[in-house]
Amino acid sequence: MAQVISGQIGGQPILILREGSSRNTGKDAQRNNIMAAKVVTNVVKSALGPKGMDKMLIDSLGDAAITSDGATILKEMDIQHPVAKMMVEVAEATDYEVGDGTTSVMVFVGRLLEEAEELLDKNVHPTIIVEGYRRAADKALEIFGDIAVSVKATDRVVLRKVAMTSMASKIVRGYLAGLSIDAVLKVAEKRGKGYVVDLDNIEVEMKAGGSIVETKLIEGMVIDKRVIHSGMPRRVEGARIALLDYALEIEKTDFDAKIQIERPEQIQAFLDEEERMLRVMVDKIVGAGANVLIYQKGFDDLLQHFLAKKAILAVRQAKKSSMEKLAKATGGQIVSSVDGLSGVELGSAKLVEERKVGDDKWMFIEGCEDPKAVTILVRSGTEKIGDEAERSLHDALCVVRDVVEAPVVVAGGGASEIEVSSRLRKWAEGLSGRVQLATLNFAEAMEVIPMTLAENAGLDPIDILVDLRARHEKGELWAGVDMFGGGVCDMAGLDVFEPLVVKEQIVKAASGSACMILRI
Ligand code: ADP
Ligand code: MG
Repeated sequence: MAQVISGQIGGQPILILREGSSRNTGKDAQRNNIMAAKVVTNVVKSALGPKGMDKMLIDSLGDAAITSDGATILKEMDIQHPVAKMMVEVAEATDYEVGDGTTSVMVFVGRLLEEAEELLDKNVHPTIIVEGYRRAADKALEIFGDIAVSVKATDRVVLRKVAMTSMASKIVRGYLAGLSIDAVLKVAEKRGKGYVVDLDNIEVEMKAGGSIVETKLIEGMVIDKRVIHSGMPRRVEGARIALLDYALEIEKTDFDAKIQIERPEQIQAFLDEEERMLRVMVDKIVGAGANVLIYQKGFDDLLQHFLAKKAILAVRQAKKSSMEKLAKATGGQIVSSVDGLSGVELGSAKLVEERKVGDDKWMFIEGCEDPKAVTILVRSGTEKIGDEAERSLHDALCVVRDVVEAPVVVAGGGASEIEVSSRLRKWAEGLSGRVQLATLNFAEAMEVIPMTLAENAGLDPIDILVDLRARHEKGELWAGVDMFGGGVCDMAGLDVFEPLVVKEQIVKAASGSACMILRI
């Protein structure tokens, strides 16, 4: 039979079944898989929603992490069972696609499988269940689309509601919501009638020390580098920035390998020549109008000295990815030779400055005009709080991007799931045979979201469900679980909104995954 391994949460071992040496076949294997999925669901379930519990995870080295993020919880656990791993993957895929809904998707998969188990007990064949789930998922997507509300992509009021909802459990969310909206709108690019947002253009840098409210948006870049030479300025206003990615060094191979040196004066002549060439390079940089040089390679000592003499602020060994973002932020171009430097390639920034951040010194390139890459510098009292802030920021940036790119939303708190579930039931009534059973169970499974939210808020899930169904029957489209007020409430009135694409992703990913598990 199956072996048992354990992960730890808050000191309590959790058991996840692992395939043992003997293999189970047929029905047994299927029941086992469903069981593994249910175990995973039970682990993450209590983390759903703003009243979800934080979990303390202790890894094999004894390091603790505190989080209420379902996917993070599972990542930190040593998961062995293939089905449990599939559930982690579906959460990761959801994170990749839309950046939110990772706990929901796992909770939903677990519930779909529980419903499937009931059908298996009634001797409904797995292929019929899969067919019913597929059809119900398609219909659910259609209904979500019907009830969703179109908004304006750049409407800050709406974006704020969505960002706040994604960080509902976090204290500093008001502050982080504003920063995420600013950041996303800065890098959003107009395409046709809509926008595209590449979140890679928003760098999030974390530095412990300071307080969360010192977290700020830099209209430009922050790079973990110092000015290379003590004689160089530490601060340049009205910066004109050269971005160079080739070696600013004289080829020495000729000198070393081929030329035969016969007299000491010859060495001197070579050194003089090298010095002359370096001076020419520096003159070209200065001539192009640059006062800041950001450079991907290492520097010659002599070159540093010459640059310092010309009061150029220089940074070396910048990462390739930093260079690319700097180009986007400052409007400059990366060049491979000073020969081609005419001045138009230079980027600009109001201020380039080396500043102390915690124990380090970093370069700030800021006040860029219309930057297409920006940085959020996260400050926090401790690294753990910083990590959690970074995760919150990730969620907020993702949902704001989701809405800017696809400006359609639904209310949260389980409101949309209840509505979709009830319309699915009505639609399923028109079907017949065993497939109908599967579609009805799918509809019921959707109710796991509001029920879990109710449970996590310490409310009676059955009472809440009865109330929710009745209100939706009366046409209260956005009646959902008010986790803070403790009852059923109009979620739109509470400003709890989520991107439609997150709900779509949850339905697609969860039904896909449940069907895959049922077919194993
Ligand atoms: P996920 O990883 O699935 O995004 P979360 O822990 O972020 O999980 O919880 C998301 C759920 O919490 C959504 O169903 C959302 O509608 C709900 N939610 C968020 N804020 C509130 C709120 N203030 N009241 C009720 N439900 C909320
Ligand atoms: Mg969330």
